[in-house]
Amino acid sequence: MDEYKKFVLSQIGIDRYVLRSNSNKNNNLNKVINEDVLIQIPPLKKNINKQSESNQIVENRQKPLNWQTLTSEIKNCQNCILSKERKQVVIGTGDLKPDWLFVGEGPGAEEDQQGLPFVGNSGKLLDNILLSIGLERGKKVYIANAVKCRPPGNRPPILDEIAACQNYLHSQISLLKPKIIVAVGKTATVALLGDDKTPLGKYRQRHLKFQWNNFSNKFLEPNQPTIPIVVTYHPSYLLRNLNDKIKSWEDLVLAMDILNKQNNG
Ligand code: SF4
Repeated sequence: MDEYKKFVLSQIGIDRYVLRSNSNKNNNLNKVINEDVLIQIPPLKKNINKQSESNQIVENRQKPLNWQTLTSEIKNCQNCILSKERKQVVIGTGDLKPDWLFVGEGPGAEEDQQGLPFVGNSGKLLDNILLSIGLERGKKVYIANAVKCRPPGNRPPILDEIAACQNYLHSQISLLKPKIIVAVGKTATVALLGDDKTPLGKYRQRHLKFQWNNFSNKFLEPNQPTIPIVVTYHPSYLLRNLNDKIKSWEDLVLAMDILNKQNNG
């Protein structure tokens, strides 16, 4: 491992990876990659405001979506109660032709203020995590959240809110066409996999697939290729659970290996 990588890893609190890696000669990452676990993605059960104008636009759209229309819809959205107290919606940031899509939970106070995802301490950690695998915010990377408006008091979004916003996230994926998606945290995993029962840890270190045809969205293009998903911990969680940073890095190494395999395949 070169000195720069050691430095970057130390910035995210990982300084023991070499020892651990050496002690595990039978590293099973490759075996995991070949597992190719196929996950069906049902739309989440929705309990959204049927009278909402923006929701009707989403439901009734027949033509393919474009980014401008989508962002305008999200900015005006009142599909769930989170619209009441937001300062602004946080749609996402980054390269609109990304290889990587990172999906987090929802805006916190600082994100709500700035209109950007992952600012503050968790944002700094995410930036360092990106650096540790040779990525940089904005270059081949797009960062979004499962819900676009801040839950009051920084509580996690409830299932109805995740479901209300799910169309927007899936529409972003449809337009961005990333080569790989990294779900950071439980909320993102629920929004992407449609499963709120399974603990996040059960999805870690698995090559999951995001299947377009399973969506109910009328406006998605048919026969879009599947996109790999890797699940890992949210930076906010990692700030409180320092020992799990190594696991998060292992998840991203898995994601890199999947992407490399895909690019070379
Ligand atoms: S969180 Fe999503 S669904 Fe709810 S109001 Fe904001 S944009 Fe609309």
